[in-house]
Amino acid sequence: MITFEEAYNTVMAHVFRTGTEQVKAGDAVGRALAVPVKSDMDMPPWNKSAVDGYACRHEDLGSELRVLETIAAGVLPLKEVTPGTCSRIMTGAAVPAGADYVFMLEDSEEKEGGTVRFTGRAGNTNIAKAAEDLRKGQTALREGQYIRPQNAAVLAVVGATEVTVSCRPTVGIISTGDELVEPDRMPAGAQIRNSNASQLMAQVSRAGAIGKYYGIARDEEAAIEQLMSMALKENDVVLISGGVSFGDFDLVPGVMRKLGLSVHFDQVAMQPGKPLTFCTGEKKAVFGLPGNPVSVFVQFEVMVRPYLDRMVGVTAETPHILMPLAADYSRKRAERLAWIPFIVTPSGEALPVEYHGSGHISALPEAWGLLTIPRGQNWIQKGEMVSVRQI
Ligand code: AMP
Ligand code: MG
Repeated sequence: MITFEEAYNTVMAHVFRTGTEQVKAGDAVGRALAVPVKSDMDMPPWNKSAVDGYACRHEDLGSELRVLETIAAGVLPLKEVTPGTCSRIMTGAAVPAGADYVFMLEDSEEKEGGTVRFTGRAGNTNIAKAAEDLRKGQTALREGQYIRPQNAAVLAVVGATEVTVSCRPTVGIISTGDELVEPDRMPAGAQIRNSNASQLMAQVSRAGAIGKYYGIARDEEAAIEQLMSMALKENDVVLISGGVSFGDFDLVPGVMRKLGLSVHFDQVAMQPGKPLTFCTGEKKAVFGLPGNPVSVFVQFEVMVRPYLDRMVGVTAETPHILMPLAADYSRKRAERLAWIPFIVTPSGEALPVEYHGSGHISALPEAWGLLTIPRGQNWIQKGEMVSVRQI
């Protein structure tokens, strides 16, 4: 059995990249940028007023000033500000030549005969300098990041109406188990509903990849092999749940070898999800996930999702966020890295939710995230910092 870190490094060492494609900026949110986007202009394009007020020379702040013109956003100034003068200016308008300060309307006293006096205390210039946000030709968005709504605004600012993104990975999903029926059936006798397929399809789609479900394989080598070879042919990655834990009917690792894949590991010292199998072939990867739904959920988040990220060139590690534990935590055995679902208390601490183990899928919807208990540690005191991630 290898450690989580060893398993993680092995998985990440076997990433292969998807291709790239051009998409319209409006379709790009959620996609990973493959080519940097550069700015085609300076932003702001000119010195810009950040407030409604009067543009003047800083050294004239103590004098009564003659108002030359009014500069609205969208028109360029016509007059240069000279000693003893100023121009009325609106937020977002270009600051006229000669001016190096804008005082706010709130800090001004307008006089009869078209003059104005500054009544406030001098401080910030209230001018955004030309090109202080972006220079023409500067990289506005790096490659290797997902495009979020805020990135969409940057695309608009620099006039990038089309962008080059990585193709979404395709992911085949297979369930195994003679006990499984699909969610639209009422389980009878020893049956249970297949929850892993629905969960994995949703996780894959949230990760920005394209999931395709292949159904339930009965616990027979031939049935698993048939669905697996179909899913492998049609996808970059295959996720198969159940049948990996070496019980009498756990056939998945054997099938993988038979299909000519290299099996890199089949057990990881983590909880939940010890029986994780990772296999690769030529531009193919298979994750043999455990059967229990919480294990599947966690394994996907901590192993498969970072793999899919790297397939599209996104290499940022999940940030290491520390939170204080809200209650003492203890466990009997400490040989595995544990992931525990928790909620955030009103005072900002991490409180583990009631959790009966890796079959207890109804514990997850309430949870804000997962916290980790390191290997070798079986006791953590309230108030100690634990590493967490959102789910
Ligand atoms: P296995 O790894 O096949 O031994 O399965 C471990 C546990 O997970 C068993 O209790 C299975 O019934 C359960 N399980 C396996 N596959 C699924 C699934 N697709 N949905 C819900 N539970 C499952
Ligand atoms: Mg099974």
